[in-house]
Amino acid sequence: MICIPITSRTNKEALHAIERSCPLADFIELRMDLIGRGNLAKLISTIRDNSGAVKIIVTCRKKDEAARAGVAARIKSAVKSKEEKLALLKEAIELGADFVDIELAEGNKAINELKSLCAKKGGKSKIIISYHNLKETPALIELKEIFNQCAKYKPAIVKVVTTARTVEDNLITLNLISHARKRSQKIISLCMGGKGGISRAIAPFMGSYLSFATLEREGQSAPGQYTVYEMNQFQEWFNGRRTETLVPTLSLRKSLPKNYVLLGNPVGHSLSPLMHNAALKKMGIDENYSAFCVQDIGGAIDGLRGMNIRGASVTIPLKVAVMEYLDEVDEDALEIGAVNTIVNNNGRLAGYNTDWLGLIITLKKALTIKNKTFVIVGAGGTARAAAYGIIKEGGHPVIVNRTMEKAKNLSSKFGCSFYLLSEIGRIKGDCLINTTSVGMYPDVDKSPVKIETQARYKYVMDVIYNPLKTKLLADAEKQGCHIFPGLDMFVHQGAEQLRLWTGKEPPRALMKKVISERLTQIE
Ligand code: NAP
Repeated sequence: MICIPITSRTNKEALHAIERSCPLADFIELRMDLIGRGNLAKLISTIRDNSGAVKIIVTCRKKDEAARAGVAARIKSAVKSKEEKLALLKEAIELGADFVDIELAEGNKAINELKSLCAKKGGKSKIIISYHNLKETPALIELKEIFNQCAKYKPAIVKVVTTARTVEDNLITLNLISHARKRSQKIISLCMGGKGGISRAIAPFMGSYLSFATLEREGQSAPGQYTVYEMNQFQEWFNGRRTETLVPTLSLRKSLPKNYVLLGNPVGHSLSPLMHNAALKKMGIDENYSAFCVQDIGGAIDGLRGMNIRGASVTIPLKVAVMEYLDEVDEDALEIGAVNTIVNNNGRLAGYNTDWLGLIITLKKALTIKNKTFVIVGAGGTARAAAYGIIKEGGHPVIVNRTMEKAKNLSSKFGCSFYLLSEIGRIKGDCLINTTSVGMYPDVDKSPVKIETQARYKYVMDVIYNPLKTKLLADAEKQGCHIFPGLDMFVHQGAEQLRLWTGKEPPRALMKKVISERLTQIE
């Protein structure tokens, strides 16, 4: 049975909340310590007018208890003294409330006064004796003793509510329900607080007399309360009437949704979310990919472990920095010295590099890499991935860069020759690959090399994919070269990420379609 507490700031709001609650509630609890200038007679008669079936509980907590329950801002009008409180509960009995809730701590005299008034009025109103612990959950043996003290007054219901400091605390209050049932004493027992959610959901199924739920989240009378909607979902679920898992607040799902993120800075213009989300949808995977602009890579990696993030893409400028935060880095990524993909295996993070794969898959669509010479323009991270993949496939990379030092470093790592960019006219090969950002939007009329250079190559590739056809590629086409747009590499590196995350083959043609359509729109 569901009890909706009315905690409104004013009497008028409370009347409105009652009208909305009556169709949903079995019980309505009037929290007279929280309702500002509450007119008890009017509130009770409004409930009766709206429903003959809803039972009324009248409660008036101590001011400090209401404050500690997280509703301090609302308690200006709270009844302050013990006498005022007792008078209010007596008024509730006179008005025919079904239950009045009095704390065990109010003592013998107050409890007995209420009991005799109930008897005098023919027993229509009944007593709930309650114990609230706002700090912790005492040991079961202590709670049983508290329960016994409440039960000795022979109230209609004993209410024992504690605060869960650990998830295990829920077991203690749930255990108390069995203890009470064995003694044929009606009980409401649960834990408050974020960790007490389990007891709130399960207590009704264990035999707790009722459970508290709010109309909206803001209407909580105690921390951790669920909404009526959520409580109804629990009921359907535990009763086997709902098979799908719709319970986000509890970790009760068999398999939690797996989500994916892009970590980089900046990421605002990234097309990865568009591509990955389209692919996930087509693959029938109800999961999501979103981009995050990262200031602190260590913190972001902690977040991956702490949250249910199944995988991540890593982009500029984090591909190298991220490596030290991972539990393992695969051999290819170690050799390249950069990670663009993270797989989260139950909290253990593994780093991979799919840039080289994207580039190699693209090239292999039109040529055999073995024994061919690839002139790579640039000596940054993408050039490293390209050189690594080409060597792995039996090809020969040659590094050409604007800055001598970087070209030298890269070539010594992979044991290949290097040239300054200004010397590019001196060399030739089978395929020219641009790995610099020259020619990228908005500098679309720029090319890293002069148009005559392309004539020395049968194949020309650009890793830039915005614009779809860079000036380098347009010039190469004019020279009769076979061209490889950066879009193909982008799609394949993304598809390889999805394969690592999901173990399934992604829809590469669709991924290419959505990105080329978006880029065409932008152009
Ligand atoms: P990076 O590590 O910063 O390296 C950039 C390289 O470009 C450096 O060697 C730099 O030369 C050179 N460079 C920059 N401006 C230049 C200029 N004006 N003239 C001549 N050379 C210049 O960058 P990265 O991570 O390798 O990324 C490079 C590009 O690849 C980016 O545009 C990125 O978007 C693209 N990318 C595409 C894909 C894809 O899937 N299609 C994947 C990864 C990356 P210095 O050494 O002289 O500074």
